[in-house]
Amino acid sequence: MKIALIFCLVLGGCLPGSGADSVPAATPETAPLARPTEAQASPAPTPLPVLKPATPAAPRSDAAYTPAEVSYSLIINFDYAHHHLVVNETVGYTNRSVWELPELLFIIEPARKEGVFRLTGCKLADELQGSCKLEAAILRVALPSPLKNGDQARVVLSYELTLPAQPNTLGFTQRQTNLIDWYPFIPPYLPASGWLVREPGKVGEHLVYEMADYEVELQIANRPATLILAASAAPKIEGSVYRFEMKRGRSFAWSASPEYQTLQETSGSVKITSYYFPKHQAAAEAGLKAAKESLQLYSDLFSPYPHPSLSIVEAEFFDGMEDDGIFFLGTEYYTSYTNSPRSYMTALSAHETAHLWWYGLVANDHAKEPWLDEALATYSELFYYERKYPDLVSWWWDYRVNRFSPGGWVNTTVYDYQNFRSYVNAVYLQGALFLKDLRELVGNDIFFMALKEYTLDRSGKLATADSFLNAVKRLSKADLQPVTARYFKNN
Ligand SMILES: [Zn+2]
Repeated sequence: MKIALIFCLVLGGCLPGSGADSVPAATPETAPLARPTEAQASPAPTPLPVLKPATPAAPRSDAAYTPAEVSYSLIINFDYAHHHLVVNETVGYTNRSVWELPELLFIIEPARKEGVFRLTGCKLADELQGSCKLEAAILRVALPSPLKNGDQARVVLSYELTLPAQPNTLGFTQRQTNLIDWYPFIPPYLPASGWLVREPGKVGEHLVYEMADYEVELQIANRPATLILAASAAPKIEGSVYRFEMKRGRSFAWSASPEYQTLQETSGSVKITSYYFPKHQAAAEAGLKAAKESLQLYSDLFSPYPHPSLSIVEAEFFDGMEDDGIFFLGTEYYTSYTNSPRSYMTALSAHETAHLWWYGLVANDHAKEPWLDEALATYSELFYYERKYPDLVSWWWDYRVNRFSPGGWVNTTVYDYQNFRSYVNAVYLQGALFLKDLRELVGNDIFFMALKEYTLDRSGKLATADSFLNAVKRLSKADLQPVTARYFKNN
């Protein structure tokens, strides 16, 4: 790990980006539910500066958080053969909270790795004067006057990305290029604790996005003729230009390969496309079937799926990774598929589809309360098996949960763990057992009604453990304490 450099400039100048990290750690032991950031988290995260609220904190509460209105316009020139991108990004940010913001803050995840990100320009649009300061993976844009409720600021960034040669969420191999968590973004601003910035842990995830509208224009040079793109939204192709539009999306990811084969299904008006490598068609079909069926089921159980498309991508990096409108599943699940729903291919397709709700629609602090998305995504797999393969319910409990002898507190953070197995055992698996006990306590009807109300209440916002438990308490007279005491630390 190297010490991050600090660069400052007044508008319009050039900023060399920096920040560094070491090579990703080896894959953990078994980790059936592992995700790449979990499996490949850096052993020594780059420390970020302590971020203070932009204005005095005193009686504020994070419960009063109001999402901002955010839009991203990304114009990308991608040199495929040289693994190099030149990007112009315009971000519109309208403050919808009652708190005034003297600055906007961007998280630039690629800047954690040396030689990947280079900022070449930063300015406010509309001829406003401000200043930009890049420190490690954080870019602060000071505003000429505080942004009040209803005010909008627009920031124009230009930068270059040189992709690392590795099978990862951001990187390339001979047959695949992936761009996940790849652009500078503005995190939620919490009234009491300020910008929601978390450092990477050794396991789990740490980035939290606000809902935003995306317009992406992508031009690719030096490309193989057979190159196919998978993304959070379906492209409109005009000559050599791909245009994507995503309304109210949590984040925008994409992937390219000259070897992708594709399969397509529709679920109502949603187009679901599977992108897979040759010889893996049977597994890709199984994943597509599970994604289609679980998408329908979750649309009934939680809330309608909000996007017109979903992409499922076979990944050269280990394990699975959700994003919005797209998810990735590691090649190992395709090669190990044995023509049966008793498989990771089926279970994890249902799991990653559930993340379109428990990450996409309803976000949370993934570093501090990871159970909210991971326990719910894991337990949502069971809903799928209960509905489609009731004979496999006990197989599911044994294969996905019990054989790992779950233990540990559910409400722990990603920073509480040194290894992935103990993290999964507590947060994912004990989390699934907690939800099972909670469901048994309050009864099926109230449990599913509470899930629906929780989704409706937190849609497009952030959820907390309190918002989840309160959704149950509003509908049930049962005393939840004996159950929470069994699974939650300090309860
Ligand atoms: Zn997950």
